[in-house]
Amino acid sequence: MLNFTVGPVQSNEQVCEIGAQQVPYFRTPEFSATMLQNEQLMLKFCNAPQGARAVFLTGSGSASMESAVINLLNQNDKALVVNGGTFGQRFVDLCKIHDVAFDEIKLCAGQALTSEILGRYNPKDYTAFLINHHETSTGVLYDLNLVSDFCRQNDLLFVLDAISSFLAEDVDLSKYGIDVMITGSQKALACPPGISIMVLGQKAIERVKNNKTKCMYLDLKSALSNGERGQTPFTPAVGTLLQINKRLCQIDQKGGAQAEIARTRDLALYFREQIKDLPFKIFSQSPSNAVTSLEALDNDAYDLFLKLKDEYGIWICPNGGELKDRVFRVGHIGNLCRQDYDVLVCALRKVKGV
Ligand SMILES: *Cc1c(COP(=O)(O)O)cnc(C)c1O
Repeated sequence: MLNFTVGPVQSNEQVCEIGAQQVPYFRTPEFSATMLQNEQLMLKFCNAPQGARAVFLTGSGSASMESAVINLLNQNDKALVVNGGTFGQRFVDLCKIHDVAFDEIKLCAGQALTSEILGRYNPKDYTAFLINHHETSTGVLYDLNLVSDFCRQNDLLFVLDAISSFLAEDVDLSKYGIDVMITGSQKALACPPGISIMVLGQKAIERVKNNKTKCMYLDLKSALSNGERGQTPFTPAVGTLLQINKRLCQIDQKGGAQAEIARTRDLALYFREQIKDLPFKIFSQSPSNAVTSLEALDNDAYDLFLKLKDEYGIWICPNGGELKDRVFRVGHIGNLCRQDYDVLVCALRKVKGV
């Protein structure tokens, strides 16, 4: 089985080996040391500013999205939310559920955010900006420079869902003034699902401390204080955290986040070059490194997904809803190499008879 979906993705052999071991007890100095190292490496890989912290929540990426909304925002806030697909919609839904006032910038599937669109909103009306760096459902990568300037000039709290872009794109907290970065274990970190990670800058930490949160499990005050000694308030997904540690250390030894980003970009460009004569068109206006979102010109996107899965043992990522037959996605995150794309392209050519 070859997996080109956008998560869970393929883990490397050493990460898989840890998954085969017994899960150890975790209230120990050894596990605390592992967690403190996880935090240090996370802060390093997103170039977090002085005083920033990383916390590890047990849950999928959406748990951290919800945690961000309930710990950082309250009745005095008004958020501006970019909604260009499934994951933008999730921030919208979270604001609604938790009674946070917001306006949404609704974009069409595949549409990029431009300064012209952003210019229609008066930043003075808002206190926070919520955006998915990479709208994984359509493969659009939003322009961080654009959003960064908008937030900086008006002192908006900048919350970035980088769940599918951390380690695939340059998510530099210091450079872009990002106050909160969110990611998850099963995307470019290439570990099993179960852990989501939040990196909080000082401004965000202050907000957490001054906010009353009506949720025990996702309360960041206790996550932050327990994290000081490398622990978590509740039993975390211990096994996944050990796998994350292995993966972070491997990345560190192989040139850090920048090397991993370059490797991912190379795979994306390699794949896009190989399919130029196939009846597909790049779907999104500003493609990411993590995913190639393709429009199937014969309107057979879902059929391609089924054929590759059932006849070739290859998973590509289908789209849902209105885009089901029109769009499919090919991921470039996880333990993949150029040869894997040769196998995929060969199968695509056979199915399409090209
Ligand atoms: C995958 C993803 C999520 C949701 O993550 P879950 O782990 O499924 O909860 C949120 N935002 C983005 C951009 C994603 O790619």
